[in-house]
Amino acid sequence: MAKKITTRFAPSPTGFLHVGGLRTALYSYLFARHHGGNFLLRIEDTDQTRKVEGAAESLITTLEKFGLNRDNKKVVFQSERLEKYQTGAKKLVEASQAYYCFCSKDRLDNLRQLQTQKGLPPMYDGHCRNLTPAEIEEKITNNQEYVIRFKMPKTGQTEFIDLVRGKVTFDNKLLDDPIILKSDGFPTYHLASVIDDHDMEVTDVIRGEEWLPSTPKHLLLYKAFNWDKPNFAHLPLLLNSDRTKLSKRQGDVAVEDYLAKGYLPEALLNFVLLLGWNPGTDQEIFNLEEMIKTFAIDKINKSGAIFNVQKLDWLNGHYLRSKSPHQLAKLCEPYFSQAGINVKNKEINLEKVIASEQQRIKRLNEIVEATGFFFQLPDYETKLLVWKKSTGQATLKNLELIKIELEKIPANDWQTETLEKIITLFIKDNNYSIGDMLWPMRVALTGRQASPGNFEVAAILGKTESLNRIEMAIEKLQAKDLGNNLG
Ligand code: GLU
Repeated sequence: MAKKITTRFAPSPTGFLHVGGLRTALYSYLFARHHGGNFLLRIEDTDQTRKVEGAAESLITTLEKFGLNRDNKKVVFQSERLEKYQTGAKKLVEASQAYYCFCSKDRLDNLRQLQTQKGLPPMYDGHCRNLTPAEIEEKITNNQEYVIRFKMPKTGQTEFIDLVRGKVTFDNKLLDDPIILKSDGFPTYHLASVIDDHDMEVTDVIRGEEWLPSTPKHLLLYKAFNWDKPNFAHLPLLLNSDRTKLSKRQGDVAVEDYLAKGYLPEALLNFVLLLGWNPGTDQEIFNLEEMIKTFAIDKINKSGAIFNVQKLDWLNGHYLRSKSPHQLAKLCEPYFSQAGINVKNKEINLEKVIASEQQRIKRLNEIVEATGFFFQLPDYETKLLVWKKSTGQATLKNLELIKIELEKIPANDWQTETLEKIITLFIKDNNYSIGDMLWPMRVALTGRQASPGNFEVAAILGKTESLNRIEMAIEKLQAKDLGNNLG
């Protein structure tokens, strides 16, 4: 019977989830789900030097935000499985597939230096490969530190069919004897990942291209253990627009940072889906269900995928627009709190405020900058009230006229359409210039040069607040020496 398709995501807890990691997790998840298989999570936390407190937990929570639900209730932590790896390494030693290596750091440093001087690729020279049992015994009795190295074949080739790249061939003589167990008893990535993938019955290993050089070592380890090997798929690198490898130095790579800026999980998922994969159709918007249905591993590109933030903004805008104002208001609330703005103001309806910018914002964090003025009295320079070639005096008069007109509109009819109809007619009937009248009104209400439409803003602010703000502007103008045109 064919084995159930099983994939896994196996991040190292470095402190954040890399966007490339999110893509690996998504593709692994989709591949498993598409085939009705299992998707497992394993935390590769055996590197004691890179340990970051709380990083594993935060990885797990971040992944959960994307709905990439795993099938193993209990996440596998490599640090809890040390005995397994130690037993595995000893088994390979007994079978002469691995050996104790007592080389000191100094010796290895010198070796590397010599090789580099000769222009040779630095690699272990096999110094301890053929120690006799007596020599080994003696060194161990003398408490000499050791690691365990895997014995790689020195001739021939190792090849496999990568699900993305097709046939890949490695020359064995170029492969180092890798350390599989360190002197502190911790395994290296190679040993731990092979033992775990076997124990977890992983059928398809999907991971970043940076792991491709490790694959022949892994294949040979499977062979040495006499285990069936899984399929491998190596995903193309993520690149900056200048085609250099995407790195923290050039911008954000942490998924947590994108979430904090107000990119929605569904937009980020949709974005990473299209990084190096396409459905072969024009479809660009996918929810998770559609992704599962459409995902096919043979449509993954071999060449690097450019990380295009404009595309991410576009997708995020799409998902933001598809939210209801109520949903969006809930999502925006934390951003107002962070900025110290209290939006629980009964006079002003947050959902209407949000709706006034819903078509424009690309990230949730833009909402405070775009609409904060609704909740806080605007602060602006008086001269901003003056439209183009107009004067302070004319502006003052115009604002007074507008105010009188607005005062006549009953509070229960204070709505965008009514305001627009009455004020537009007033401007037209009196032959006033639109800019001269509506510009100062906008600045008075918002303190800004650009905002949602005057009448929508006034409607949301309500009659009392709108008139207050216009009065405030009038007082600002009165306080200035209008003779010098406020310049
Ligand atoms: N721990 C490795 C990483 O962080 C996993 C590589 C693999 O999937 O085998 O990328």
